[in-house]
Amino acid sequence: MQTLIIDGTAIAQTLRASLKPRVAVLTRKGLVPGLAVIHIGDNPASAAYVRNKIRACAEAGIHSELIALPSGASQSELLAHIKALNHNPRIHGILLQLPLPAHIAAAEALLAIDPAKDVDGFHPENAGALMLGQRGFVPCTPRGVIELLGHESIPVAGKHAVVIGRSNIVGKPVSLLLLQAGATVTICHSQTRELAEFTRQGDIVVTAAGRLNVLTGNMIKPGATVIDIGINRTAEGKLAGDCDFKSMLGIAGAITPVPGGIGPMTVTMLLFNTVQAVEARLQSPG
Ligand code: NDP
Repeated sequence: MQTLIIDGTAIAQTLRASLKPRVAVLTRKGLVPGLAVIHIGDNPASAAYVRNKIRACAEAGIHSELIALPSGASQSELLAHIKALNHNPRIHGILLQLPLPAHIAAAEALLAIDPAKDVDGFHPENAGALMLGQRGFVPCTPRGVIELLGHESIPVAGKHAVVIGRSNIVGKPVSLLLLQAGATVTICHSQTRELAEFTRQGDIVVTAAGRLNVLTGNMIKPGATVIDIGINRTAEGKLAGDCDFKSMLGIAGAITPVPGGIGPMTVTMLLFNTVQAVEARLQSPG
């Protein structure tokens, strides 16, 4: 079997091009979409993600502001910045780059973000809306997975989707979205026994474990679609996903590579959520 390697970069480019007219309409109305990214500390991987997001905003015609705080920044300092951004009319989306330093209470910080500007979809109000199937901001990576499956015309309704990972920011929301799309969903995690028994049943297998080689070719059913969300470093320092990529070839029907799969889709969905924030404001001003 020929395995389709899904080009997330190309899909992301197509989607970003489709966003430009929406940004242009808003800009003509004097509403340039604005995103603020708060980054605490000097973690090089986080700094690279932040640069990437700021660059993507510039390319899309979205105004962006970077609030770079030292690693020792206090909780109250962070909350003061969030409060100011909540009231800043040029800012429609606020993103708090994770992970945060250990002394910062992440839940309190995320709760402080105005849900109408919570373009990461991590505020309990948006997480609750997703749970209830109501309109709100959907976390970027899970939304990117659904958009990518749709773009590739990979059917979800009636299929069995197996998700590895149950985090609040990836595993749980992607499972809910797959469920909403009509899949039967199995969620696996670190305490799942005999992981392969579950993954072999999946028509779609999504890995979000952050563990190298958590999924290998002999753990999937022939023809399955494999969505690799994980980002890891190999012993040689190379970027890699959760899947043993080579072992998937010839068995999987389709697979997203790392890099070049879900990563660019995630940034693209951040742009979409920021534009959605402005459009929602237009529909219900005040
Ligand atoms: P977390 O560490 O919060 O969650 C990992 C999940 O995987 C947990 O639920 C954990 O189970 C489960 N898990 C860990 N090891 C195993 C295993 N051996 N077998 C089965 N399940 C396992 O990570 P995140 O959800 O935040 O991120 C997951 C991965 O996705 C990371 O590599 C991250 O870098 C990447 N990522 C990529 C993005 C992108 O844009 N491409 C965006 C966001 C994240 P338990 O709950 O029991 O501990």
